[in-house]
Amino acid sequence: MTSKVETVLNNICATAQSCGRPPDDIALVAVSKTQPITAIIPVLDQGQRLFGENKIQEAAGKWPTLRAQYSDAKLHLIGPLQSNKVRQAILLFDVIETIDRPKLARAIARISREEGKFCDCYIQINIGREPQKAGVDPDEADAFVTLCRDELKLPVCGLMCIPPAAQDPAPYFRLLGEIARRNGLEKLSMGMSGDYQTAIRCGATSVRVGTAIFGARTAAQ
Ligand SMILES: *Cc1c(COP(=O)(O)O)cnc(C)c1O
Repeated sequence: MTSKVETVLNNICATAQSCGRPPDDIALVAVSKTQPITAIIPVLDQGQRLFGENKIQEAAGKWPTLRAQYSDAKLHLIGPLQSNKVRQAILLFDVIETIDRPKLARAIARISREEGKFCDCYIQINIGREPQKAGVDPDEADAFVTLCRDELKLPVCGLMCIPPAAQDPAPYFRLLGEIARRNGLEKLSMGMSGDYQTAIRCGATSVRVGTAIFGARTAAQ
């Protein structure tokens, strides 16, 4: 029987091919937030190695145990990061996808130097300019990329976004691609269970997929 993670990987491959992209250009980040270790192990056993978590405390409770067994697993932080948790985040995660304000960027730069550990960084863009959502305003994106990459010397590899719910996400995905292109950034983290195929057609280089792999989450988050 085909597992859910295999189904998602097959869909990624088929979608990439249908728009003339090499399937290997798109990474799958399996979003394991709220999932217990017992649900994550079968996905690791399928060979999946990139995972996303949105809460530092929760990740700190699960991943040291999992990493002891699966040392090549890589962890992406996809949720909000408070300045007072930066050190813990840098030590626990491989990639930080949610850099969205100067104070946070400065703290990450300083503590990365102190620890001698530099996570790959994505800048989160509030692509729909929604007041309740995290992320840099699209109009401020170029200046913020310059601050993070050129002034603070963070290893900024790309942009991340969550488009407005219940709208066609394609224009928002394309706008993220435009901002990345004009800033010389290669990576686009966009697309979730409901829209990852659209995101791939719009240029996503990684998709963050939770429920399509793990099933519905019990708590709404
Ligand atoms: C939860 C979450 C996802 C995964 O969402 P699904 O709809 O379960 O695939 C992706 N990105 C972020 C930032 C999330 O918080």
